[in-house]
Amino acid sequence: MKIVFAHLYPDYLNIYADRGNLAVLNGRARRRGIELDVHEVGLRDPLPDGADFFYIGGGQDREQALVAPDLAERGQALSDAVASGAVVLAVCGGYQLLGRFYRDRSGHEQPGAGVLPLHTVAGDTRLIGDVLIDCELEPGERRTVVGFENHAGRTILDADAEPLGRVVVGFGNDGQSGFEGCRLGNAIGTYLHGPLLPRNPQLADWLLAKAVLHATGSLPHLEPLDDDIERQAHAVSSARAHARGGRR
Ligand code: GLN
Repeated sequence: MKIVFAHLYPDYLNIYADRGNLAVLNGRARRRGIELDVHEVGLRDPLPDGADFFYIGGGQDREQALVAPDLAERGQALSDAVASGAVVLAVCGGYQLLGRFYRDRSGHEQPGAGVLPLHTVAGDTRLIGDVLIDCELEPGERRTVVGFENHAGRTILDADAEPLGRVVVGFGNDGQSGFEGCRLGNAIGTYLHGPLLPRNPQLADWLLAKAVLHATGSLPHLEPLDDDIERQAHAVSSARAHARGGRR
């Protein structure tokens, strides 16, 4: 069983160990006999045919500006993939560039891929700290997701857009709305770094299962793994968010 995985701009967008998300996906897939066929996609590189999973990490304004025009040109291809049920995980700077645009701290408007119904404008201060959100990956299945945020961007979701979750502790999209992230089909954008997936194994498995569904047409039952350490990491981050997180 193979998942075609496109890692967008690994040389530019990879802060806060975002590459660690790939290691988690690889390890959890392998332990279920699933191969992650990873294609690193740099500037002007072709996207792999039939990709089931697209991943893009975070970065400083400067690195974002270097990849934004190239990513914007892929907007239609990525939107078509999302419409076909492909999985996307976009973190922070990558999340911002999947919207319509990111107006950065210099006032420069970086073009976005227009995949997610949102836009982002940098503020004067950075929104930094541990974050805890409440979300429903599947209807009726409430989960907490934890991570760390550090962004100047304030992301404004369109009125009919679906956030990833409700902020319990932290700033989230803009420090005001009380929402964090955005989701569209199996595409998820989030400000949560850390990296995100080591301490959120349920989110990692949800993404993997949806990618297998895209690749095979059937939703797999992924054998449960021993996630004792992951659960401890989640609990520690959750407690730290409550103790230290930014805005409640
Ligand atoms: N440069 C963007 C901002 O400051 C994204 C930062 C990031 O990816 N951590 O908002």
